[in-house]
Amino acid sequence: MRHALSFDVEEYFQVANLRGHFRREDWERVPSRLDVGMDAILGALERHEAHATFFFLGWIAERRADLVRRCLDGGHEVASHGYEHAFLGDLGREGLVEDLARTEAALEAAGAPAPRGFRASTFTLRRDTWWAFDVLVERGYRYDSSVHPIRHPLYGVPGFEPGISRVSAAGGTILEFPVATWPCAGRNLPMGGGGYFRLLPGALTRAAVGGLERRGRPAALYLHPWEFDPDQPRCPAPLVARFRHRVNLRRTLPRLERLLQRFRFDTYERVLADHPDADG
Ligand SMILES: [Zn+2]
Repeated sequence: MRHALSFDVEEYFQVANLRGHFRREDWERVPSRLDVGMDAILGALERHEAHATFFFLGWIAERRADLVRRCLDGGHEVASHGYEHAFLGDLGREGLVEDLARTEAALEAAGAPAPRGFRASTFTLRRDTWWAFDVLVERGYRYDSSVHPIRHPLYGVPGFEPGISRVSAAGGTILEFPVATWPCAGRNLPMGGGGYFRLLPGALTRAAVGGLERRGRPAALYLHPWEFDPDQPRCPAPLVARFRHRVNLRRTLPRLERLLQRFRFDTYERVLADHPDADG
């Protein structure tokens, strides 16, 4: 069985968690650290003959066409993470249309085919931003991975089906492939990536992916290039934000390598193509 692996391609200073420290207008001035993480990720995938989906910010694709092409040349999928990491609730429906168009243009200018998949900034596809599915269908997207079926103050759709499902929207349907969760005491707990992946023991992540595999369900995992860069500059953010951002950064790469040794990972597109709902 193949599981889906993804990376949200953004700089450490574009993370929602550190918004209070890096303002949008500062982005051009902060030195890029993207290559450190991308080199680590692409090297690990090559060593283990694995493939992944890279959800690029349009802002990055415009500046780093070389990275988009490097992902494509490595046999990976390039998809959309929106233009500049805005939350869906802040964009609104019309804003999302523009944001997607701008990102599609940036990816296409960098040599990528039209993106088939989308992940919203910070999993902000919630019940109150459900209209995003209508916009995605309208623009021809085949799948989305922006729903996090957990309880969280900023995001989450707690009652959402944790596996792959087909969502009905105004102009048709679209596949939703939420990041993996761990069913525990009647709730879905987060484990599929980011801070949770770094905080929880690696053995637990491997057990969770193994558990899904035994039930015949592919897992979807997500990480970011900055999580592979333990030497990134420290910033004076509040303690909780700093902890969430920095916990176990040195463990991300060895943990990913152990997962790649034990399980088969591929792009979202290819994992979804195997799913019975793929043609729905
Ligand atoms: Zn992101």
